[in-house]
Amino acid sequence: MGESYSRLVAYARQTGMLKSIAGLVHWDQQTYMPPGAVQARAEQGALLAALEHERASSEEMGRLIAACEADAEVKGNEALAASVREFRRDFDLATKLPGDLVSEIARTAAQAQEAWKDARERSDFASFAPWLEKMVGLARRKAECYGTPAGGEPYDALLNEYEQGARAREIEAVFTPLRKRLTDMLTALGRGKHPDTAPIEIPVSAERQHAFGLFVLKAIGFDLARGRLDTTTHPFCSGLAPGDTRLTTRYRESRFTDALYGTLHEAGHGLYEQGLPKETRFGEPLAEAVSLGIHESQSRLWENWVGRSVEFWEWALPHARELMSPELGQFTPEQMFRAVNTARPSFIRVEADEATYNMHVMIRFEVERALFSREIEARDVPGVWNEKYRQYLGITPPDDRRGCLQDVHWSHGLLGYFPTYTLGNLHMAHFMEKAQEEMPGLKGEIRRGNFAPLLEWLRRNIHAHGRRYLAPELCRRVTGRALSAEPLLKYLEGKLRPVYGV
Ligand code: ZN
Repeated sequence: MGESYSRLVAYARQTGMLKSIAGLVHWDQQTYMPPGAVQARAEQGALLAALEHERASSEEMGRLIAACEADAEVKGNEALAASVREFRRDFDLATKLPGDLVSEIARTAAQAQEAWKDARERSDFASFAPWLEKMVGLARRKAECYGTPAGGEPYDALLNEYEQGARAREIEAVFTPLRKRLTDMLTALGRGKHPDTAPIEIPVSAERQHAFGLFVLKAIGFDLARGRLDTTTHPFCSGLAPGDTRLTTRYRESRFTDALYGTLHEAGHGLYEQGLPKETRFGEPLAEAVSLGIHESQSRLWENWVGRSVEFWEWALPHARELMSPELGQFTPEQMFRAVNTARPSFIRVEADEATYNMHVMIRFEVERALFSREIEARDVPGVWNEKYRQYLGITPPDDRRGCLQDVHWSHGLLGYFPTYTLGNLHMAHFMEKAQEEMPGLKGEIRRGNFAPLLEWLRRNIHAHGRRYLAPELCRRVTGRALSAEPLLKYLEGKLRPVYGV
């Protein structure tokens, strides 16, 4: 390894440590922290974030990166050159935003979130509208600081924070055919027979669900000696440090599949985190996830492609009966499979099924892009939102609580984030088409509870690379194709049409 690169990594590792401590502090806040610690915890978090930003955007960091860029040995090594490219990208993003804008966004977002909670509670959009206006204004200023990426539009600067190199126009070109075909499919499913959901309505205590969740985690290869599963209101995964990946889930006794699929989803994120080469490369981009879209492809893959397959239930049902409830014994794997594969338009994104979920995402993408480009104003959002729900899903939200006030993202200033959810689904379908092509017996292995071939394939093709390849290149390298709507549509139609008999 080049001398200049070693010096850069030594510095970056410490910044990475600060980030991982901040993550731990945040995890504790969500899980075990007593409520009395809120104020002190906010100060701890703010201090750590400031220290991290200071190091990440320091002159020293700039010098260390520049030295690597001038080092022929680094340039000649493809992996190191990719790593330096990513170090540069992070540094430029961190230094492009003036400190006063960063703190103004943080301050306004804290107030906007309070306003949002209150507005959502009372389903009163008018009281949130001025805050949305402010957050969109700040997002526009942020995009100005970043600058419009070559060949793109200002909104792309926001997208780029979560999905490097993504362009709204390209996303639109994939989303448009996806929306059309999904609309047709949902219309067809609406004429079919809705599956019986009795199998997933068997009540199961939280303790039993937890035991089953741990059993499944172990089976799919999540290393519990290098990770944990805890309970929170909003499930998440945090890949804190080498050997430390935390998952959380939540239990609803009347529907055990909420926690099961929540756990599988977060475990998918967790397997990715555990598969990154952190033990050897912590602090380097080569030990970090590519993008939110690729991260989400991994979570959706275990949650849906694996967890909602008939083969999964052929393996899991006897264990579910034993660990959760003997009452599950009255159902067949096929009945379980059908019960977890319903598709029906609904108002709430986070509760949506695999097919309609993407419609929720596309609506948000269109609304925020229009907001950002000043095509519409904040006050127009409920009308535009409801019209799109009517048009794309055939339903009209009865109030804004179940409409445009349901998501926390915009109050946080997270514009450009939503598309990554559907990008994740699209990537998942691409990857799994290829995985099956290379491993024709894959479904048979899952039926036997052998998840190792799939995990090893993901480790080798995706996890091991860290940020060496950007998402579009990774997709092409793994699948030989550019991202399109086709594999996801084929997967959804192939699964759901037979379930509904249409
Ligand atoms: Zn996720």
